[in-house]
Amino acid sequence: MSYEYKGQQPPPYSAPPAGFTPATHFQPPPMAPPPQVPTVIITTSAPTQLGEEPTRTKCPSCHADILTTVDYTANSCTHIWALVLCLFICWPCVCVPYCMKSCQNANHYCPNCNAFIGTYSN
Ligand SMILES: [Zn+2]
Repeated sequence: MSYEYKGQQPPPYSAPPAGFTPATHFQPPPMAPPPQVPTVIITTSAPTQLGEEPTRTKCPSCHADILTTVDYTANSCTHIWALVLCLFICWPCVCVPYCMKSCQNANHYCPNCNAFIGTYSN
């Protein structure tokens, strides 16, 4: 029931023999040096992704960290929805698109200097 194998374990196949010297004719493919990219950190802040809610951003005019004030204006989508509601559903619903933020453009303004920041539209 017992194995008769008592010999020493053969050396692992990958183990090089003593005094192994790698072949000198083999050269790894030369690695292209990475291109020299100037590490210039662009400090001009990218425009903040504006949403339909007041957004915290940096005012491009007065450079203050502000929470924008949002003015909602009707866009073409709003008028189309109003027309559709008026014609096909019921005319009292015409005011609904004008009350829905998601159907309107959100104009962001700086509360400090009233500078126009940007418009968010769906
Ligand atoms: Zn400002």
